[in-house]
Amino acid sequence: MHLPQKHLCTIAMSVALISSAHATPLVEPTLHIKPAASGTGRVALTLDACGGKTDTRILSALVDNKIPATIFVTGIWLKRNAEAVAIMRAHPDLFELENHGGRHIPAVDTPQKIYGIRSAGSPEAVLAEVESGAAALATTGEPAPKWFRGATAEYSPSAIAMIRKLGFKIAGFSINGDGGSLLGAKETARRIAAAKDGDVIISHINQPTHAAGEGVVQGLLALKDKGMTFVRLDDADGTGNHGTTD
Ligand SMILES: [Zn+2]
Repeated sequence: MHLPQKHLCTIAMSVALISSAHATPLVEPTLHIKPAASGTGRVALTLDACGGKTDTRILSALVDNKIPATIFVTGIWLKRNAEAVAIMRAHPDLFELENHGGRHIPAVDTPQKIYGIRSAGSPEAVLAEVESGAAALATTGEPAPKWFRGATAEYSPSAIAMIRKLGFKIAGFSINGDGGSLLGAKETARRIAAAKDGDVIISHINQPTHAAGEGVVQGLLALKDKGMTFVRLDDADGTGNHGTTD
């Protein structure tokens, strides 16, 4: 059968419309904290503990240099890293533990893949991911989490609305420090050291074998040397876009 060119175009356009209607456009929200009233500035360091182990290079550097951080932990990571959790709990002045989900499943309520990870896929599954993450944190004796960051840090707008209704603020970021822990040490250090007053840095604390971890430490020490202060999300006035904090 021969179709005129015009018809083929119409068919192609319809297919494009159908697939875009299926894949909900995702958002990657930003987050900034209120700049310092005076002095050299302040930043919030957020570290994700998605699964796997603990990067003790980073954990030790934070303790030794008294750098406060907000750690986003999953239920999976909590189960396998009791020793690191104990160190964090022994320094409540430094570490704030927040919710990174029960099973590290992206908070997207339609079925799709994000960076190769399958999304929750339904409103019920998003709810289960958020609530199981909070429940896992409760078993450690930590205060109830107030912030949530989903796996991949991408969300469908309807999932954002749902998570806000559960009472959590959603933690975006303004500086991608380690590119999902896949960057080299030098580039990671450069990105983190470039943080300005009010920035929220994201990096990972669960990849002890990656070069990025070394860069996280170098970048943080460079910021400290410049006189930058560090605050946790609970101690800062964070403002995110896409309805994540208001
Ligand atoms: Zn993660």
